[in-house]
Formats: sequence, structure tokens, C-alpha cells
Amino acid sequence: MTSSAMRDLMAITERPEVISLAGGLPDTSTFPPELFAKVTAQMAAKVTAKALQYAPTEGMAATKDVIAEVMAAEGTEGIDPDDVLVTTGGQQVIDLVCKTLVDPGDIVIAEAPTYPGAVPSFSAYQADVVQIDMDEDGMKIDLLEETLDRLEAEGRRPKFIYTIPNFHNPGGVTMSLPRRQRLVSIARERELLVLEDNPYGLLRYEGEALPTLRSLDGGDFVIYLGTFSKILAPGLRIGWAVAPRPVLQKMNVGKQGADLNSSSMTQLFAAEYFSIPGQWRAYLDSLCELYRGRRDVMLEALAEHFPPEATWSTPHGGLFLWVTLPDYIDTTDLLARALQENVAFVPGRAAFLDGRGGSSMRLNFSMVGDADIREGVRRIGEVIREQVDF
Ligand code: PMP
Repeated sequence: MTSSAMRDLMAITERPEVISLAGGLPDTSTFPPELFAKVTAQMAAKVTAKALQYAPTEGMAATKDVIAEVMAAEGTEGIDPDDVLVTTGGQQVIDLVCKTLVDPGDIVIAEAPTYPGAVPSFSAYQADVVQIDMDEDGMKIDLLEETLDRLEAEGRRPKFIYTIPNFHNPGGVTMSLPRRQRLVSIARERELLVLEDNPYGLLRYEGEALPTLRSLDGGDFVIYLGTFSKILAPGLRIGWAVAPRPVLQKMNVGKQGADLNSSSMTQLFAAEYFSIPGQWRAYLDSLCELYRGRRDVMLEALAEHFPPEATWSTPHGGLFLWVTLPDYIDTTDLLARALQENVAFVPGRAAFLDGRGGSSMRLNFSMVGDADIREGVRRIGEVIREQVDF
């Protein structure tokens, strides 16, 4: 088993004196307490007994209805609620897909870098993860094809291809439309499953939305992962999978063994919240405006405080950007120094299973205010300066 460096850091970054650019946290302080109280009161008035009771493993009907609405906004219209499995965060989808499909030694394809939180799941099920490089248009699909050919020649077939097409965590990049189309046609031609992880699709700060892989594929080969964590609150721990029926049924069985059902109380909270007319869109708009500003502040601070050799992504949405420093800098060592200066980031190695990423880091811009972003980036710049003259 391999722990997630990101989760391990959370204990340190909870210390109030630390400016954390490490977490992937939305800024929940923006959620109005009166709204929280109103939603809770409405839920209590209507469904107290239900909220306190067990629920079906697949999820509650009212929750699945709002999931279909959110998925339509994310670009996938007309989802059948019977194709949805409500999960304990999107994280559980990754775990259940591995539990369902992966035997020890099986290949899983992921991006390089990949979501650090997926690493413990891949490792626990003993997947052999093959990571495909990305550029500013997302996963390099020609490399994917070469890799699939090579694996096929060795008689090995990946169990699934894991991708985060929108505002990649941690890469900060978005997969272009031609690559989405090619990925979906490769999946169809080779009969391979794709796990499309889309927590950030609605957090777009510029440009036009691109179609989801699920909508391009129609649901034969794509398993979709959604979550309320970034558009509402991670404290609910509610996410979902939409998957081809045979896969979904096995994931349901996997979930029965894991936690019986996701919290009835927070499923009903979400159902209540999303049925207030205009509310969730208005809150989402406010988040986009806030995070767009914080992203811009971080980009400015990087230009001011980081060495000219450093490169970074310019994300059009989401919560992260990915910085690569000269290759003689080891960001795991740098983090130890940075923590002495009370600033944290996620070192790049956390996003690889093959030891790469040593000179990169993930920076989050959603959780702290403008002044702390500037100060945090300045402090990291200072510790880099101890190793690079600039
Ligand atoms: N996938 C990705 C790419 C993520 O960034 C996250 C959250 N950081 C998740 C899945 C899981 O989120 P949650 O369990 O809160 O839905």
C-alpha cells in the first residue's frame, strides 16, 4: 500500500500558521451559514426519519434526480437514474472501479502526472500503472496508442484508462476536442473501458465547455465519475458513478461490502439544496468568480517570485496549477525547507507511480485569499532561491 502524500500533508497544513497551497480544498467559508441552516431545516421538516435511516446502496431517488440535472449541466444530457451509483465521494468511484476490475498485476493506464489521491487505490489493488505524458492539450493520444500496441504485443490488456479531461488535477491542463474524440474511438475500437474523472468541469473561468467523453461515447465504454465536492461541499462526501450496467452492478456489490450506503443525511441535504430554484447556479458562479481572481493572483506571483527557468500551466478552470523547476531541484526536499517557512505544496512525486515528478509541484489557488497566495508563493520562491541564483 502507498499513502497519498497529499493526505499525509493535511495534518501539517491544518496548523493555522501554515499557508497551505497543498490541499485540493474548495473555499467552504464562502457557503452562507443561513443557507446551510435553511437547507437543513427544510430537510428536517420533510424527511427526518428518512435522513436518519439506511438507504439503498445505489443511492436515493431524490439524489439521483439532482445528479441527472448536474450531469446535464456538465455536458451529459438524459442520464437514466438507473445508470447512477451514488458513492461516498468521487474517491469511492476510483476505489470501486479498481475493486471491480483490477486483479494484482493488471495494467491501468493513467496520465503523467495523475491525481495523487488515486495512487493509494491503484496501489492497494496492486495495479501496474502505466503513465502517459501530457502536454497543454492533455494526454498525448499518439503515445497512448503506441503504448497500447506495445502492451498488446506483450499480450497485456489494460483494465481501464483513467483520465481527468477537464482542468487536470494536478496538471492544470484540459484535453482538446480532437483528443477526446480519438480517445473515445480508441476505446471503442479496442473495447477498452475509460474512467472519466470530472470533479472540475463546471469550475470553468474562461473558454467554452468541451463535450464529456461520456457524451461522445454514449455510455458503452466510459465510466463517469462526478462529485458534489467542488461545486457544493466535500464535507457531504457525496459523489457518483455512471457506468455500463454490468460494471455498475459489480460496483454496487463492491460498495455493499465497503459501506452499505452513502450517508442518507447528506444525500438528502444535496437533494434539498439543488432543488432551490437558481441557488446552485448562483453559488457556482460566485465560486468561479472568486477562483478566477485567485488563479490570476497566483499566476502573477509566480511570474514575480519564481526563477525564469520554471514553467507552469495556465489552467482555464479547476483548482490547481503544476509548476516544473530546473531538474536539479528536488521538490520533496524543497517541501521540508518550505514547511520550516510555514508554507506547503504537494511535491510532484506524489502524482507518479514510477518515481518521476521530482522537480515539479502542485499548487492550489482555491483555498487561501489573495494576500496569502502572494505570500505563500513568495516564501516558496525564497527557498528555491537558496538553490538557484536568479
Ligand atoms: N478525482 C479528482 C481528480 C479529484 O481531484 C478529487 C478530489 N480532490 C476526487 C476525485 C475525489 O473527490 P471527492 O471524493 O471529494 O469527490
